[in-house]
Amino acid sequence: MADSYDFVVIGGGPGGYVAAIRAAQLGMKVACVEKRAALGGTCLNVGCIPSKALLASSEKFAETKRHLAVHGVKVGAVELDLPAMMAHKDKVVADNTKGVEFLFRKHKIAWVKGAGRIARAGRVEVAVAGGGEASLDAGHIVIATGSESAPLAGVALDEKQIVSSTGALALAKVPSHLVVIGGGYIGLEMGSVWRRLGAQVTVVEFLDRIVPGMDGEVGKQFQRLLERQGIKFRLSTKVTGAARSESGVKLALEPAQGGASEALDCDVVLVAIGRRPYTEGLGLEACGVARDNRGMIQVDERFETSVKGIYAIGDVIRGPMLAHKAEDEGVAVAEILAGQKGHVNYDAIPGIVYTWPEVASVGRTEEQLKQAQVQYKIGKFPFTANGRARAAAETDGFVKILADAATDRVLGCHIIGPDAGTLIHEVVVAMEFGGSAEDIARTCHGHPTLNEAVKEAALAVDKRPIHI
Ligand SMILES: Cc1cc2nc3c(=O)[nH]c(=O)nc-3n(C[C@H](O)[C@H](O)[C@H](O)COP(=O)(O)OP(=O)(O)OC[C@H]3O[C@@H](n4cnc5c(N)ncnc54)[C@H](O)[C@@H]3O)c2cc1C
Repeated sequence: MADSYDFVVIGGGPGGYVAAIRAAQLGMKVACVEKRAALGGTCLNVGCIPSKALLASSEKFAETKRHLAVHGVKVGAVELDLPAMMAHKDKVVADNTKGVEFLFRKHKIAWVKGAGRIARAGRVEVAVAGGGEASLDAGHIVIATGSESAPLAGVALDEKQIVSSTGALALAKVPSHLVVIGGGYIGLEMGSVWRRLGAQVTVVEFLDRIVPGMDGEVGKQFQRLLERQGIKFRLSTKVTGAARSESGVKLALEPAQGGASEALDCDVVLVAIGRRPYTEGLGLEACGVARDNRGMIQVDERFETSVKGIYAIGDVIRGPMLAHKAEDEGVAVAEILAGQKGHVNYDAIPGIVYTWPEVASVGRTEEQLKQAQVQYKIGKFPFTANGRARAAAETDGFVKILADAATDRVLGCHIIGPDAGTLIHEVVVAMEFGGSAEDIARTCHGHPTLNEAVKEAALAVDKRPIHI
């Protein structure tokens, strides 16, 4: 006999586990089917959390080696203890995933351990981890099965010499030369980690710029700052093949538009060309759930798929592949299914690259506004003119705010600089409330803070910054 639930979510990542918790808060009987040995999905196990642990640890190492003298702090020889750094990362992951288990117990959510398959609307079959089958009757089914690294033809992964981000989070030693294929945020974050720990790092990118979705001016400055840290870039270049040897890998490179091939030797290759939706074994064809030509499950504004009673959220549907986007969709779908008006504002989803300095953005870029023929004003303020940034000797970068020329409403904000990922949130809140640059400019900001650079950029939209 099947166990019966109001709400069954397949996938225990930030989309799925948050949806499960919100549905339980709203009084539903909830089960979450997850086949991984720990809850938390890509984000907690092999994504956001372990990468941020390694970024934090490697940043401390790099700072101790290179950046303390300016503050009058002398240190002796600085040594890397890579196993201890990895152990810290593993503990952070374990603590976080156990935290989700605790939340499931607190909300009486059943974690059904195994691989879920949708038999039809209202019925999920589970190949239970360790053997056996379970059937779940479900009032509503929510698919939250996430994404996986996109493969690159001719460059097969072995997770030792040729790795995805998962392998790059667990290298046993610092490579002497790491080649990162793909200049997106995952490649740049992992490239930064290993560069700081001593690897020579080369990023090969097909396009003529890094972080393609990002504001062009910020992207250029970002590349310059990473180059200053010793990362090399080969733009407008494609990797066409990889040959393994005992000692390393020989990559074949060509100009993006075609031309003479050249070889690039390295000992580790990270393939980070993007991610694709993961729906293997879910039985979507059989039950008629439609996907687009990129494999994304198609949903309407209520997250319902082409089959009534089956919903989808997170990386497996359209929109940015980000944990907080998945979480907000998880909350929204649970609220909609409880008869409330859940929604996600896709115009105000921040995107952050956790390198040093950090890069953060929300809303539209200048390029997008030009393309849409929207008239806009720009306000910019550099961290060199911010007292707190000077005190910390972290003056690289700037804040740029884009506001509607007629209404002054904030349309986008792009920050490169210290703690950009934290700073962006005051602009996210302002945008969520439909705020103007004037609203930010007239808000009292504590002194001395990095946030004052945001206020000054807002003042600069109206050409009246005080400190520049
Ligand atoms: C290296 C890296 C760094 C990242 N850093 C960030 C960051 O800093 N900030 C950010 O916002 N995002 C980051 N991301 C992206 C983020 O991890 C994803 O956007 C997020 O995890 C998507 O959540 P999700 O719930 O949709 O899917 P996932 O987290 O992928 O979870 C899906 C889960 O479903 C399970 N599953 C799949 N099929 C089945 C099945 N049939 N039965 C049972 N279980 C199944 C999988 O095992 C998985 O655990 C990063 C990703 C990577 C790879």
